[in-house]
Amino acid sequence: MRVLSHAQFTVYAQQQIEMAEQMLARHRLGPGRWCSCGRQMPCSVVAAATAAKQHMQAKVALLEATVVLPVLAPVAQAQPVPLWRRLLAGLL
Ligand SMILES: [Zn+2]
Repeated sequence: MRVLSHAQFTVYAQQQIEMAEQMLARHRLGPGRWCSCGRQMPCSVVAAATAAKQHMQAKVALLEATVVLPVLAPVAQAQPVPLWRRLLAGLL
């Protein structure tokens, strides 16, 4: 199994998106409820190409959104005041 690098996958995904867009360009709503390919709408090719396009766009968006974030120091949590201290302070 071949593993693609980030750049290779991005190119592959862009090619898949372009192919889906080319397919969608040939399947437009025609007269009535018919696709320009002759199928009744919703055309199964349109549904498959749209799903493939959205899938690849989501993958690309995930890759592009990946950012190395700084490491944050843990925030010290406030310690609960012991009961005896609350009693002495007159808080209860
Ligand atoms: Zn069609």
